[in-house]
Amino acid sequence: MGAADFNPGAENAGLPLDSPEGAVPDPSVPLGWMPEEPIAAILDLLRRGERFLVCSHSRPDGDAVGSMLAMGMLLENLGKRADLVTADRIPSIYRALPGAEAIRCVMRVHGPYDAAILLECDSLDRTRLRGLESFYQVNIDHHATGRAFAHLNWIDRDATSVGELVYRLIQAAGVKVTPAMAQCLYTTILTDTGGFCYGATRASTFALAEELTRAGADPVRIAQEIYFSTAMAKLLLLGAALTNLKREGRVAWLSISHNDMVRTCAAEEDCEGIVNYAISLAGVEAAAFLRELPEGRIRVSLRSKGRVDVSSLAARLGGGGHENAAGVTLDGPVPRALEEILGQLRPAVEAISAHPIPMNGSTCDPRT
Ligand code: 5GP
Ligand code: MN
Repeated sequence: MGAADFNPGAENAGLPLDSPEGAVPDPSVPLGWMPEEPIAAILDLLRRGERFLVCSHSRPDGDAVGSMLAMGMLLENLGKRADLVTADRIPSIYRALPGAEAIRCVMRVHGPYDAAILLECDSLDRTRLRGLESFYQVNIDHHATGRAFAHLNWIDRDATSVGELVYRLIQAAGVKVTPAMAQCLYTTILTDTGGFCYGATRASTFALAEELTRAGADPVRIAQEIYFSTAMAKLLLLGAALTNLKREGRVAWLSISHNDMVRTCAAEEDCEGIVNYAISLAGVEAAAFLRELPEGRIRVSLRSKGRVDVSSLAARLGGGGHENAAGVTLDGPVPRALEEILGQLRPAVEAISAHPIPMNGSTCDPRT
């Protein structure tokens, strides 16, 4: 179901905008409002409140961290108090971002907040934070599988990153983009387009990257932090994953056990990007990376070159994401989870094989 189909709070539309004075609405108002002018509705809410909670999904990525930081800076600029929280620690490659040290790692949230702003989430569960139910919730997302789960929802599936949406809020608020904001926002675009490689990348993406560079983002420094600051453990883990690389026609996959994680002293963040080695194979259209979690469940990252929609496959199994990049957590052990994933990937790839495109390496020749 598309977010546009789910709008049970429509009768509530206009609630914050109809009365220019007054406080942020009570969390008892209906969920699911998707205002026609989401930017105006969100800014109105921000102006009414004093203190906000800003959070994102568990295991935060570049878009989660960069958009939280930029949102915090916007709120500060508007004279508001913002507390930034996540359930998991910030990966080391994003820790040099301005303000990252202020993000608190917590399990439960409480406090006198006027609203909680959830970035990049399709549910409260995706944050893995407890206590969010008691606040008025604002959902800002760009995932294909995004849902109007909060009180006020803005889902733009064409945006390259949630950072791009935060940038639009900053502009609409008439706030000058500072070099620190630009640094964070550029990071969200660079990482969520996979270095300007994924489907959402278009001419406007480069225009935005240019604007942010002019506003003070340093593309070389940011790329160095993200792509050339690899921990030794990460490469050792990659080595373990590559020894398990398998291919079946246009599908490729690799996996690591919990033991591989322990043996290489790898952290969770060291798994980011490993799936790209499988999708990078010539002739492969869809790829999976399976990682055994300490408790035995299997975390799966899915990638596609654009002809297979991995977000709908992930959503069918209880996960979500974008057409090119999605994820899900399945029951173990690895061979069981792999069969579940291949059960989805094989027919999807067969469907596109009915319309072949010229390419190299569609065979199982290990040299291709
Ligand atoms: P990754 O494979 O890098 O963890 O995730 C790829 C994309 O899929 C990201 O945009 C991420 O937010 C999304 N994603 C990953 N796992 C899940 C999941 O379990 N649920 C949902 N809804 N989205 C996910
Ligand atoms: Mn994102």
